[in-house]
Order: sequence, then structure tokens, then C-alpha cells
Amino acid sequence: MPTTNHPPAKLKIAILGAAGRMGQALIRCASRSPNLHLTGAVEAEQCPLLGKDVGIIAGIADIGVLLTADSRKAFQKVDTLVDFSFPSATARHAMLAAELKKPMVIGTTGLNGAETETIRKAAAHIPVVWAPNMSLGMNLLFAMVKKTAGALGDYNIEIIETHHRHKKDSPSGTALRLAETAAAARGFKLDDVAAHGRQGLVGERPASQIGIHAVRAGDVVGDHTILFATEGERLELTHRASSRDCFAMGALRAAEWVTARKPGLYSMLDVLDIKE
Ligand code: NAD
Repeated sequence: MPTTNHPPAKLKIAILGAAGRMGQALIRCASRSPNLHLTGAVEAEQCPLLGKDVGIIAGIADIGVLLTADSRKAFQKVDTLVDFSFPSATARHAMLAAELKKPMVIGTTGLNGAETETIRKAAAHIPVVWAPNMSLGMNLLFAMVKKTAGALGDYNIEIIETHHRHKKDSPSGTALRLAETAAAARGFKLDDVAAHGRQGLVGERPASQIGIHAVRAGDVVGDHTILFATEGERLELTHRASSRDCFAMGALRAAEWVTARKPGLYSMLDVLDIKE
């Protein structure tokens, strides 16, 4: 009897924060993926675009997926959730995802302590990939920073990040992660050594200090430089994102990866199998 080779079923995903800058990039990238089927798109209740086709919102064709604020209904129809929305919304989404047993990829940054704890609790019931920066290049940079901060143990570290003028949280989640990585490599907790910007008579810079500076201007997608400096030399490691597609492609790769995992909290280093 002839056998029929069915193509493998596509992974059904919903995007949360779908009308936002990252949401639209995710819609465009998901529509080009042979493995993914976008079946849900969630926005805030006050979003003026509710009921509209998200393909049109993202500047491609009509894709038959309407923007909704009914997260429960949207979650029930999909395999995996991809959230780039707003801290309080992401925490609520994570609780609902845990209840409905839906794996989740979270890109949202700027969560407070209670919201972070909610994500941790949800990850006891579902697999969650949570990363402040989903690009491959930046995740390699995290690994390089860990190594460099240890190897150049007494060099001064300063982090300078630049983002578009609409960005809500400062410094960026990525800058904080870079700073945490560098501090941990030297045996410090970031809170004990961080200096956020400098103003006035702050005195001489302590050697262990990690300076963090946030620039907000124009339409910059995301630049991060980590500077290691001592007498006579400095080393600057810079990552520049020129389009949101690098984050969106990483998040969609994480969505495919997370679906087969056990409950737990994972990072992009796990997804990309980057050993630190
Ligand atoms: P944005 O403001 O353009 O989009 C966020 C969207 O979330 C908005 O459309 C908003 O209406 C929506 N939203 C708010 N409440 C909601 C709710 N209850 N349900 C569903 N949607 C809701 O912001 P953005 O530039 O797209 O960034 C979104 C988040 O992703 C930010 O926290 C940003 O820092 C982060 N980000 C992460 C990465 C990464 O690689 N991890 C990359 C870029 C941006």
C-alpha cells in the first residue's frame, strides 16, 4: 500500500503585544517561517486596533488572524506563547499560561520584583524562556563579557546603551544583564557596585564600580557597548541591532525549542546551546 508522507504539523503560536514594535516584527518573521503557524494575536483592552487583521497591522497581507484582548480564548487555541508586551501584562499572561499549561517565551523587560517572582512561579508549571535580548550576537557577547570581566579583573567597566526615544525602561534589560554578568564574574552583586549615570561631585571612581549609562534618541533599535579600561589601553565590545528582526528570529527559535522542554526557567544561552 502506498504510504502518504504528511508534512510535520506546524507549531501554533500566539503573539502577546502583537501591535507593538516587536509584535509586528514577530508577525512578519513568523509569516515567513515554514515551521510556525500564527493563530493568535493579543493586545491590551484599550488598543484601538482590536478586531483588525494582524497581517495588515504588520504591513504584510491579510493573514486571517484578528487582534483580540481575550487572552484566555487566544491561549487555548495555540501550542506556545511569545510575549513582548508590558511588565504587568506579562506577569498576568504567565499566570494564565501556567494554568492552561502553555509553554512561553518572554522578551518583555523592566519587570519589578513581584512580577519577576510571578514568572518564576509560573516556570514551576510550564517551560519558560526568558531573556532580555534574544539575538544570537548579544548572547555570544554575554559569554564573552563573562570571560573578559574575569580575565581583565582590575580594568574599569562601563556600559553604554542607546535606544529609541519610545523605550519605557532604563537602563535596558540587556545593559543590566551585561552588568550582572560582569559583576558576577568578579564575585560581586550588581547592586553593590552599580553606578547609574554620574552627576555632581561623585569623587574618584572605585575600581570595582560598574558604570551604566542610558542614552535615548531617535529611532535607534539597540546599541550596547561594554568598555574595559586601564592605564594605557581600553577594550570595547559593541553590539548594534539594526533591525528588530534579530530579536524576533531569536524569539521564534526559542518558541520551537521551548515547546519540547520540561517546566523550568531557561535563557537564550540554553536555546542556543552556548556554554559560558
Ligand atoms: P511597544 O510599546 O511597541 O509594544 C508593546 C505592546 O504591548 C503595545 O502594543 C501594548 O499595547 C501591548 N500591551 C500592553 N498591555 C498589554 C496586554 N495586557 N496584553 C497584550 N498586549 C499588551 O514595545 P516594544 O518595543 O515592542 O517592546 C516590548 C517589550 O519587549 C519591551 O519590554 C522591550 O524592552 C522588550 N524587548 C525585548 C527584546 C528582547 O530581545 N528580549 C527586544 C526588543 C524589545
